[in-house]
Amino acid sequence: MPTPEAARVTGHRTARLPVVDPATGEAFDEAPDQSPDELDETVARARRAWHGWRADPAARTAALRSAADAVETAGDDLARLLTREQGKPLAESYAEIARTAARLRHFADLAPRTRRIDDGRPVHSEVRWRPVGPVAAIVPWNFPLQLAAAKFAPALAAGNTVVLKPSPHTPLATRLLGSVLATVLPEDVLTVVTGREPLGARLAAHPGIRHVTFTGSVPTGRAVAGAAAASLARVTLELGGNDAAVLLDDVDVDRIADRLFWAAFRNCGQVCMAVKRVYAPARLHAEVVEALAQRAKTVAVGPGLDPDTRIGPVNNAPQLARVEQLTRQALAAGARAAAGGRRLDGAGHFFAPTILTDVPPDSPVVTEEQFGPVLPVLPYRHLDEAVDAANGTGFGLGGSVWGTDPDRAAAVADRLECGTAWINHHAELSLAQPFAGVKDSGVGVAGGPWGLYGNLRPFVVHRPREEDE
Ligand code: NAD
Repeated sequence: MPTPEAARVTGHRTARLPVVDPATGEAFDEAPDQSPDELDETVARARRAWHGWRADPAARTAALRSAADAVETAGDDLARLLTREQGKPLAESYAEIARTAARLRHFADLAPRTRRIDDGRPVHSEVRWRPVGPVAAIVPWNFPLQLAAAKFAPALAAGNTVVLKPSPHTPLATRLLGSVLATVLPEDVLTVVTGREPLGARLAAHPGIRHVTFTGSVPTGRAVAGAAAASLARVTLELGGNDAAVLLDDVDVDRIADRLFWAAFRNCGQVCMAVKRVYAPARLHAEVVEALAQRAKTVAVGPGLDPDTRIGPVNNAPQLARVEQLTRQALAAGARAAAGGRRLDGAGHFFAPTILTDVPPDSPVVTEEQFGPVLPVLPYRHLDEAVDAANGTGFGLGGSVWGTDPDRAAAVADRLECGTAWINHHAELSLAQPFAGVKDSGVGVAGGPWGLYGNLRPFVVHRPREEDE
């Protein structure tokens, strides 16, 4: 099995990309900064490998199951490297690796269904499914392995080969994952490419690619859609979110406070479908702020490799600067930090878990995606106000409603303009569900059979009916 050394740079012709440990702020290793020629070569090889890979569904199922086993066997090395470059607590890295393996197993056992359409004409039609061709998977730095698997597992199961590009902030665990998978997959079926921009832009525009599946921010998503337009490749975009949690007036604050806190602060708030705004009834607002602030002040913040840590550093310096700027802006506009409110002294990209109150509703920390450990809690008087505010941004990824009566909460959740709504919890997904954002949060559908069909194209055969007889 490959060791972390496999993530290291090999070869002479490749430039280097330094990788920073966010717990120290210092570079600790490097990855290749690959050239346009290397990218062309990789896509050409993926194209050649496609012809063998698409031919044998049973071999694919077996290979993907073995891939899941291989990921689990390499779990210790993957988890440490992931924590080192991403920052998340080691327990969260192990959970991410378990979800990576689970995605491979889930899609290993999914197959498209051939359908016969018999509509009374002298011919009948048979709808079969074929792989679209080499797929480009471009992913961000918050869940490098799990988000990659959410793309390559359905793409590979459908019979496509994949070129996977991780974020330049987190290339190492993905390179190691690529080496681990190379021990069980045929050559060039899944290749990891790493480097600075414009590597992603070139991959999205590459004429050898037939489906670009991208997870990341809204502005980059727009650029990817534009780039893929050149070759008319299919595009799936899983973009940002600004999920609201709406608390109803019958909510039991003590009972939900832990769940609500972790729905906002898991992975240091760097989760597309984290709770990014809380709307609380005015009568309960102070109680909610207090319950969340007490947790934010006492939670253990530190390096992810320290076993006591529950919240690690922000992944990278530009993201830390953005979180800091959004917080400062809100404080300057009259908000108050009930907990945190600033960067922590010392080395590393640490920001104190922050609960903001008295935040102007038009403050960018409310209307934009903060993607960090900062949570505004806003009061409302009438429920319609809260629902309008929850729906009042350009995003539409998820949302949740919290209360003692789940049916009443579900009726309110029905009014949220988003792809997934939760009652009394947030951000739990089933592997078998469709996952899709509305408005600026995405295009296309991932997850379950929808994710598989997103990597397939229909091929229809019409046959005269008398041939059946
Ligand atoms: P990003 O958009 O900056 O980068 C994402 C990826 O795109 C990286 O690999 C990056 O190198 C690459 N890239 C950059 N410019 C490119 C270009 N012009 N063409 C092609 N690729 C390019 O996002 P980020 O800062 O890495 O991640 C955070 C964002 O991801 C947040 O907005 C978050 O909400 C979103 N996200 C969404 C989901 C989801 O499922 N909806 C999940 C996780 C994260």
